[in-house]
Amino acid sequence: MMSAIPSPAALSLDFIVVGGGIGGLAVAYVLSKAGQRVRVLEKNGMDLPSGGHRVPPNFSKILRQWMGEEELRKLSVRCVGSPSFNLRTGEVVGYLEWKPAVLAETGGDFLLMHHKDLVRTLHKLATDAGAIIDYNTEVTSVRQGTEEDAKPSVTLANGDVITADILVGADGCRSLVRQVVLEEEDCAEPGGMTLYTGVVDAEDMLDDPDLAPFILSDEWAIGMAPGRSMAGHPVAAKKQYAYHIYSWNNLYGLPQGGEETWDEIYSTANLDTNAYGLAVQKALKLTTNLIRTQWKTRDKVDEWVDSTGRIVLLGDAAHPSFPGGTHGTSMAVEDAVVLGSLFSHLNMIDQVPSFLSAYQELRQRRCELVNAADIGNARMVALPDGPLADKRNADMRAKNDDWDEGTLKAQFEEIAEIFAYDAGDAAEEWWVNWGRFSAAAREQPSMTDFFSGITMHHS
Ligand SMILES: Cc1cc2nc3c(=O)[nH]c(=O)nc-3n(C[C@H](O)[C@H](O)[C@H](O)COP(=O)(O)OP(=O)(O)OC[C@H]3O[C@@H](n4cnc5c(N)ncnc54)[C@H](O)[C@@H]3O)c2cc1C
Repeated sequence: MMSAIPSPAALSLDFIVVGGGIGGLAVAYVLSKAGQRVRVLEKNGMDLPSGGHRVPPNFSKILRQWMGEEELRKLSVRCVGSPSFNLRTGEVVGYLEWKPAVLAETGGDFLLMHHKDLVRTLHKLATDAGAIIDYNTEVTSVRQGTEEDAKPSVTLANGDVITADILVGADGCRSLVRQVVLEEEDCAEPGGMTLYTGVVDAEDMLDDPDLAPFILSDEWAIGMAPGRSMAGHPVAAKKQYAYHIYSWNNLYGLPQGGEETWDEIYSTANLDTNAYGLAVQKALKLTTNLIRTQWKTRDKVDEWVDSTGRIVLLGDAAHPSFPGGTHGTSMAVEDAVVLGSLFSHLNMIDQVPSFLSAYQELRQRRCELVNAADIGNARMVALPDGPLADKRNADMRAKNDDWDEGTLKAQFEEIAEIFAYDAGDAAEEWWVNWGRFSAAAREQPSMTDFFSGITMHHS
């Protein structure tokens, strides 16, 4: 396995990263480690309300290298399995064990973490590595460079203009930078799902016999019902419990609406929770406010790099993820590792276009496939009553040992493929097979130099 911490490059450039979410902070860290000068511009402060993340092995093995096993343990819960239950009745349908032997093959653990802990950790890593992170600093416009001066620039809400050699748009689903890259207005449609995210303190749950088993478990629990589902798990080393409720197409109580953002606070008093089982109703009672996020869909972002070859998209700005999915955050962090690894080989500015197009080539298809898997799984656990839901339940009831047959086996293979990926390896493989030769070729005297040398010699 390659290191997810790049070594400093021979050449350092100035990078601006628009957006200090998980993707922006992760790329600030790896680019700084790769010897680049990085400034992150984040419109909000650091401590906004947030919820939980599943941190699958492809992500946790990066974090383990970045922060060390001990620190990682302090902030996470190791997930041992996923019980699925009927959201209306509470009846257990099946149990998916995250088998240690299988996880060992992937090189990582399946962890459960709080968004805040990830942000704080990445912020510390990035600043310790030398990145400058400006909070409460909104970018209001982005300008591409020109033929005379290739450097892109941004204008801030206070009127300041900042220029850099390279600009990374890590500004989330509603990216401003993406509009400059694509040279068109963002056009997003409601996708039919509204997500409600909540966090409950452990001590409140421990007092209640219906809720205590959830906070005491090492599990990511999945609640299933027609048109709605739930995912919940302990976070912050079991000091809190985070959950998402997925509400599809205006059915069963929880209204559709909101924006593709994580800053809308929605009072639980507004929710009709009759269509949910007892444990869910109790968990909701313990949560005063939820975060409401609407899933939106848009055409695939074909280009991640602008026409000048100096502006590049990363994370949700490049491939908007399904909110509350398992993989969105991992994809943003993998993007960061790939970009940082490539820029650790920088020794001349001419390499930039090839690095940026290699980055897109390495990342785009994987991000699309993984997001499609997230959407497919979210739909599967919210199927309407009927033969498809019966088949799903029958598969889930089957023991883990029976996985040799049927859909769960196929799904597991898909998961294993997602989990075993190593972002550092992918970047290094490109460098070894392609990148270093073109760079080496350019370091040799060109044929023109060769002949002009001869001419000069004879004259
Ligand atoms: C506050 C917050 C809480 C979240 N909580 C959860 C959660 O609990 N569970 C979950 O699964 N996912 C959560 N997410 C989403 C998840 O983090 C992302 O989907 C995923 O990690 C990809 O990250 P990203 O960095 O690409 O995008 P984001 O995490 O969306 O980060 C983009 C950042 O860019 C900033 N930004 C946008 N426009 C500008 C601008 N013009 N100028 C400066 N800054 C700008 C935003 O403020 C944001 O911080 C949350 C996101 C945010 C922002």
